[in-house]
Amino acid sequence: MNVPRVRGVCPGLSTPMQTGDGLLVRLMPAAPIPLDAMLGFCEAAGRHGNGAIEVSARGSLQVRGLTADSAPLFASAVAELGIAALEGVPVIAGFDLMGADLLPSRTREEGVDTAQVAAELRSAIANAGLALSPKVSVVVDGAGPLHLDALTADVRLRAAEPDPGSRFGVPRFHLGLGGDGASASWLGTVAAADVVAAVIGVLRTIAARGATARAAEILRTEGGEAFRSAVAIIEPAAPPPQRMPAEMIGLHSALDGTAAVGIGLAFGQTQAAALGEIICFAAAHGATAVRPAPDRALLLIGVSAPDALNLSAAAERLGFVVRADDPRRRIVACPGAPACAAGLIPARELASGLASALAFIGTNSRRDLGLGTPSPQGGEEKRVALLSCRPRGVAIHISGCPKGCAHPMPTALTVVGTPRGCGIVRHGSARVTPSHYLDPANLSREILRLAAKSKGAAHG
Ligand code: SF4
Repeated sequence: MNVPRVRGVCPGLSTPMQTGDGLLVRLMPAAPIPLDAMLGFCEAAGRHGNGAIEVSARGSLQVRGLTADSAPLFASAVAELGIAALEGVPVIAGFDLMGADLLPSRTREEGVDTAQVAAELRSAIANAGLALSPKVSVVVDGAGPLHLDALTADVRLRAAEPDPGSRFGVPRFHLGLGGDGASASWLGTVAAADVVAAVIGVLRTIAARGATARAAEILRTEGGEAFRSAVAIIEPAAPPPQRMPAEMIGLHSALDGTAAVGIGLAFGQTQAAALGEIICFAAAHGATAVRPAPDRALLLIGVSAPDALNLSAAAERLGFVVRADDPRRRIVACPGAPACAAGLIPARELASGLASALAFIGTNSRRDLGLGTPSPQGGEEKRVALLSCRPRGVAIHISGCPKGCAHPMPTALTVVGTPRGCGIVRHGSARVTPSHYLDPANLSREILRLAAKSKGAAHG
């Protein structure tokens, strides 16, 4: 077993990464994980690691607290459980045909199977033997509401809307480069049958620029022509329409009458015991599999519809996020101390305490902090209406040190670990010099004071 710590290289099962609380491994499952296998995964994480399990913003599973001796044992346990993880260039498939036919999907009716396309791409990329940056990734997305627009990718495929009047009688994909679903540079469309050749052509173009080249950089320096001239099978086409952000948290109806229950991990982390408990509960309510999803979420698939609310309530009792407007989703925190050796404050612990304090402040104060307002209990229509207008994005970033790994962008309020305690930055990133410093024990009080000040300024 290698135990390297190479920045930029994914800490996969065979290449764990050293962190403050031991070795960390990350894996992106190639398919939904059967619940018995997921239960075994939780047990292995508790036995070989420190029990902390995370879901990353891109939907990867992470296990912390392994040792040089236990990491190979954990890798063996995962292999024995039959959990296949993506290797090499990550090719991430959309959810349209997930598990129990999760959602009505136009791509399904058209005969486009994103999982199948992704599998063919993985095989072709492996055979091509390209020397690509370990950060290069590919997304194969469908037309369903649980889309992958939030994920950045070097190469993005999105199933094209059917156009009965066009000469294209076969399913097609939009092909985009760099950015996320909203900011990608769309080159045109390609027939589903030509997708593998087109993507390999694009990846060859990237690889030809060197082992650290990325699509976005080539676009910036050479423009889209660098790819179009190399991949002639791309037909010019208007970019695909923008769409509402996907919301993984909540109840999702499946074609077969079952439901998928989307739950979130507060600040991206839970304990193996809590996850195992909800997996057992889900199994008792008919769920068949679990799929990690973007935005630090898990989708429990195949739940009998009448039991979905019970499962959601059980997840809430165990500390999982079950409401789209949960204010914890507007707070981002890295592991901080002691999990990260560079951490100067216990970022996640502070975030958790802050979330508890925020639960007791008034609606106006929460809104003034940019955290949204608590949703009233109500029917599905009210839930959907609230979901569509809830504030999105990060309002508060708690960073263990000025590196700001969890969120490099500015936020309304950043709390950064420094040798002087918590540094407070308004409307800036963790790298900005704080306006003032305070003892971590006083953080919640300070945040509430800032909320009151914002409110006073707004109404004064
Ligand atoms: S921001 Fe600092 S403390 Fe947080 S994970 Fe990154 S290096 Fe560690």
